[in-house]
Amino acid sequence: MTGRSLLSDLGLYVRGRLNSRLSQLLNRRRGGPASPPPPLTEALGAADTPLGGVRLLEGRSNAEREAAVARVLAARGIPFARHRFATFEGRGENFSVDLGSGDRVLLLIAHHDAVPGSPGANDNAAAVAILLRLLERVATRIPPRLRVRLLFTAAEELGYLGARAYARHAPLGGIVGVLSLELCGIGDSLAIWDVPAETAFLGGITRALEALGRLRDDTYHVVGRIPVFGSDHRAFAAAGIPAYGLTVVPGAEAEALRRFVFSPVRSVLVHLVRRPPPFDTYHSSRDRGETLNPAALDAVVGALEAIIAEMG
Ligand SMILES: [Zn+2]
Repeated sequence: MTGRSLLSDLGLYVRGRLNSRLSQLLNRRRGGPASPPPPLTEALGAADTPLGGVRLLEGRSNAEREAAVARVLAARGIPFARHRFATFEGRGENFSVDLGSGDRVLLLIAHHDAVPGSPGANDNAAAVAILLRLLERVATRIPPRLRVRLLFTAAEELGYLGARAYARHAPLGGIVGVLSLELCGIGDSLAIWDVPAETAFLGGITRALEALGRLRDDTYHVVGRIPVFGSDHRAFAAAGIPAYGLTVVPGAEAEALRRFVFSPVRSVLVHLVRRPPPFDTYHSSRDRGETLNPAALDAVVGALEAIIAEMG
């Protein structure tokens, strides 16, 4: 580890801790009555729809969320690799599933942890559920030259620690693009964000979305580097790989969202100012499954299927 990367790890660590601590305090103060999650065995039986998949994780501790992902993969007989990590910043376990056997790798990421005090439905149980659904749909239909790697990360809320640990230790050769799914359960419009420049990977994504009838700046948006917010893809962007966030937003809120995320002061005060959806439940005790739109989850599954086909 170079001095520079240690320094940036420290910065992410401090930011992650502040973020978690602040969420904990505010969620305790708001404290709404939380209904306990169903027993995991019950949730496993109902996990074959995206919303059923959300209930696997929603309202559980981070250790339980992590265990639930391993349990559902094992219960479905899906071979997966475990990537355990422990650093001064924290510990956890990432899980990866490879689909197809090509030498060009498309990496799709969903973190399984949540901030303390939040049920973590939209952030980020919805994304985990989407990848589990995608897995069922495309497992036997990956184009020959492609390999799709699904990565379920731990500790994203600690400055994307799990993704950084993975990027440091796993071979990155062959990865042609990375999408990190964040807040994918509310809205009707897709946002590809942290896109500093047009790339071949972005071209593939936009062709796929347009083939589905989506229109740029209308039913999908391409957004530059966003201050304050971040996600797991940044661990790979740091290695020079095209790596973007993928989020669903209500199209009607696009302008309010643009103002919100591009104003660092407003977004730092994320807990205090009026926030447009999906940020009105973000990192709060209100981030529950009943606020999600099933159609949003289905739309992301469909978009990812189209992107996979386009990249083949
Ligand atoms: Zn998140």
